[in-house]
Amino acid sequence: MRARDMAKLPCISCEGCGDCCRGMGDTVHLDPYDIAMLCKNLNCTFEDLLDVRIALHAEQGLAIPHLLMEKSRGCCSFLGSDGRCGIHCFRPGFCRLFPLGRQYDGKGFQYFIVPGGCDMPGKTKVRIRKWLDIPDLPRYEAFVSSWHYFVRDAQAGLARSQNPELNQQINLFLLQTFYGIPYDPDRDFYDQFEERLAKASRLFTD
Ligand code: SF4
Ligand code: SF4
Repeated sequence: MRARDMAKLPCISCEGCGDCCRGMGDTVHLDPYDIAMLCKNLNCTFEDLLDVRIALHAEQGLAIPHLLMEKSRGCCSFLGSDGRCGIHCFRPGFCRLFPLGRQYDGKGFQYFIVPGGCDMPGKTKVRIRKWLDIPDLPRYEAFVSSWHYFVRDAQAGLARSQNPELNQQINLFLLQTFYGIPYDPDRDFYDQFEERLAKASRLFTD
């Protein structure tokens, strides 16, 4: 399905049971856009988020940030006691998507409904674009694709190197490049991302 398509989603039936914000482990991945939005709206740095709101895990050798589940409550630290998301306006892309997922096809991606994702009855048909509610969706989708394929290339590059020290340096460089160096809120995010991507891509193509 594309963003222009309709899908049966819990737009009215979502009563904030919060099930999609609990016990998610390290599965709610955060991309550079998510981190830029969190830093901008919470007026904090990437380092401030680490170990309190988010954490890092490795996937095929690449460090990936994810939302941290609070140990005491077993849920995302942004989940309020009323079962509602405390950062709804700037919640991460994975949270906006749910219960949709993305299926990549080598060039871009399509949306699909995650089987068993949300069991709440009473779903209604809604246009995916409206469900996502993301400004400038075509540019966002282009960014999502670029990032996905860069991550794949980076993971392949790290696997080829088989040099733990070098891979650690590469990971630190990528963390700094895409998350650590703050994005200028007065400049277009996507322009800044493209500049960083061009720089980082050279690591795996030169
Ligand atoms: S699991 Fe479904 S009903 Fe519950 S909060 Fe998530 S989207 Fe809403
Ligand atoms: S950011 Fe909001 S929607 Fe996403 S897991 Fe946390 S509480 Fe749930």
